Amino acid sequence: MLHLCKLAPRFGSLLGTLALLLIATPLLAQPASRSGPFAEAPRSLRSRQFDQLHLKLELDFDFQTQSVSAKATHRIKLFESLQEISFDAAEMKIKRVELKSTETTGQCKFEHRAAALRVELPNEVAKDTELEIQVVYEITKPKHGIHFVRPDEEEPTSLEMLWTQSEPEYARYWFPCFDHPSDRLTSEIIATVPTKFVTLSNGILVEKKEIGEGRTMWHWSQQQSHVAYLLSIVAGDFEIFEQKYGDLPVQSYVPRGRLADAPRSFEKTPAMVDFFSKKIGVGYPWPKYTQICVDEYNWGGMEHTSATTLNLGTLHDERAHLDVSSDGLVAHELAHQWWGDLVTCKDWAELWLNESFATYFANLWTEHDLGPVEATWERYGDGQSYLQEDRRYRRPIVTYRYRDPGAMFDRHSYPKGGRVLHMLREELGEENFWRGIKRYCELNQHRAVETADLRIAMEEATGRGLTWFFDQWAMHGGHPELTITSDYDSTAKSLEITIKQTQKVDELTPLFKLSAEIEIGTGSESSIRKITIDKAEQTFHFDVASRPTRVVFDPRDVLLKVVTHERSNDELLDVLAHSQHIIPRHEAVASLEQQIDDQDVLAALVKAAKSDPFWAVRMRAAEALAKTSSEEARKVLVDLVASDPKSSVRRMSASSLAKYAHDEARAALRSAIEKDPSYEVAATSIRSLVKIDAKQCRELLLASCERESHRDVILKAAVDGLVELKDQSAITPLAAMLDKPLASPRRTAIIIALAKLDPTSDDVMTKLEKGLASRRSEVRRASIDAVAELGQLRSIKPLEELRSREERRATIESIDEAIGKIRSAQNQNSELVKQVERLQKETADLQRKLEKIGSNPENKGE
Ligand SMILES: [Zn+2]
Repeated sequence: MLHLCKLAPRFGSLLGTLALLLIATPLLAQPASRSGPFAEAPRSLRSRQFDQLHLKLELDFDFQTQSVSAKATHRIKLFESLQEISFDAAEMKIKRVELKSTETTGQCKFEHRAAALRVELPNEVAKDTELEIQVVYEITKPKHGIHFVRPDEEEPTSLEMLWTQSEPEYARYWFPCFDHPSDRLTSEIIATVPTKFVTLSNGILVEKKEIGEGRTMWHWSQQQSHVAYLLSIVAGDFEIFEQKYGDLPVQSYVPRGRLADAPRSFEKTPAMVDFFSKKIGVGYPWPKYTQICVDEYNWGGMEHTSATTLNLGTLHDERAHLDVSSDGLVAHELAHQWWGDLVTCKDWAELWLNESFATYFANLWTEHDLGPVEATWERYGDGQSYLQEDRRYRRPIVTYRYRDPGAMFDRHSYPKGGRVLHMLREELGEENFWRGIKRYCELNQHRAVETADLRIAMEEATGRGLTWFFDQWAMHGGHPELTITSDYDSTAKSLEITIKQTQKVDELTPLFKLSAEIEIGTGSESSIRKITIDKAEQTFHFDVASRPTRVVFDPRDVLLKVVTHERSNDELLDVLAHSQHIIPRHEAVASLEQQIDDQDVLAALVKAAKSDPFWAVRMRAAEALAKTSSEEARKVLVDLVASDPKSSVRRMSASSLAKYAHDEARAALRSAIEKDPSYEVAATSIRSLVKIDAKQCRELLLASCERESHRDVILKAAVDGLVELKDQSAITPLAAMLDKPLASPRRTAIIIALAKLDPTSDDVMTKLEKGLASRRSEVRRASIDAVAELGQLRSIKPLEELRSREERRATIESIDEAIGKIRSAQNQNSELVKQVERLQKETADLQRKLEKIGSNPENKGE
């Protein structure tokens, strides 16, 4: 599964990403506990009464009533002799349960309570017996599992479709089963839907036939084993972008009318299938690969076996393609077809065996498709993302102490684990790593795995003992924090480098063993030295003929770590000018930024912004130029905003120009708003212009509210601008926009602006709080943020209602944070009121005393 934030531009390609990350995971609050939601007593793997062998699901969907008449026929084999068995089954109406075995057939007594369906067998059934149990049930207006997308008051022009989502444990909301990743089964889904729709499910289409009354039955069959959370059915009006990889059908389903956008998102899919098949050494395992874009989907994507579901927002137009790419998402879900679907984590505790692999394989695709520099940059973003989470809590990648399965879907399981797999590849070397991956996949296909399976396969394939590696990186938490000092002895011609591990070593965080590289350079010359770090403090000596101009630890940024390395400006300038490696150059800019008043530093940053070969270094330098007000910097930014080939650099330059209240900057921003093909550059330019041209930009902001853009970035920048200007005269035209039919995210952005401009309006607040109940997660999230900012007590009730329905942990956390923020704002207010009341009382008392003193005859004459 991939969360929505990954749909945004990759890390560093700007502010939009950060904003989305902040929404997805509130970073501000330091939790009381260092272990976050990972402080429970360790769980055990769930026990099974039976082995699920095969499931036949017959589902008759009624879109009008949003209900399903269903029949689930399970073939199971008992692990023990039993008189009663139990299935996970939530919020469904069980009508009948029947048993079929060689000995007995007939109806069973059952009890359905608290998400468990207990079935009484007519007599005790012996261990190892195979049984067929059929459950007939109904689902009406489902809250989880099945999602109907239909036109309604909120969106009268909405598409009509349905999709399912089961990971981690929502399968039980649409079929009774053992809802846990440890049990594999084969499956069939027989779906009856209106004839105007197509369906997509796992495996092959066995039969499709019209059954009368405008209804068609689709029979899908998944003949190789997978697990309950991977079952999927989608129905709606879709067109197919058809491709092939050899004989393998590769099909991308998009809502009718969006076919022209499909190649932009999916064109590379067959090349990805080819790349992964060859790299892993185990061919693509399923009879087809399909991906389908659905509306109102709360996640980025989900790797249902051979039938991936994707968020509709992954489709985008040509202009948005300058800022965003679907390749990372498509590669991630495709990689899951091996890592997660063919080889499945045995428990959510081992989730990294699904998610870190999908994350890292998407990164390997980047390396293959765009080159190692882009891949390094992507991994750097992954590392930063993990480090942000580590500030909130720390846990081992593998932990059985999770509060709920959803908690495992965090940045330890995704980016941190991805970086750990990269370190493993570096540790083992290219050939060994891939030999190990092949063995791991071959040995464990169609099995549930735990981390030991990966370690053992790697050890067997390479002869290397890897307990230490998995122990420190997967079974413990944290990362090395290193302090580095270097000194050159010109007499002995020796460079001394001392490395200290300064992280607090405890039960959770170990002392690390690390294989590292050091770049020793003088100008354009450099060499790489290899070392092993395995102590709290170590000193290394290298023969170096003359004093080097720079020492760079881990120049390729292989290790996941935090480094403190005090260096002079001269050394940092040398790194920026001469290092071949992007992360050291990027970090040199960040360090030099503090010294931007130094003329040499400014010159170097200007040069880097203009001409560093890697866009992210140019972007970082453009960001640094906001820290000065020099004419030289302004001219460079004006030039960059108009001419850098990379939209991210233009966007950052536009952002930095907000610090330059100068006509040249204003003209450059206006020109970018009007002409730049990138929506993001236009949106950022609007935000900057508001800061330096407040008096002149009102008309432009109102006009920008009417512009269409990917994810409405231009509209959002424009309404934020109006709010920032506190422009009360904008209320009438904004309110008038709501009279027209609008997609609900656009409508919400305008409502939020109106609420901020006039928080006393009851009507607008009611509209805003309605957004909390929206079917669209993006609308819900924007509404949560807005009511939190407005801080009105009345919003707590709708927030609490939303909390009881919400599935995503990150959203639940942001609801809690919003409620906390509103309460503390109210407390502060009431505290202020109390203080004022107290002061008023004291003043009145003093006044009375003074009057008393004045009127006391004893005081007279003094
Ligand atoms: Zn995933």
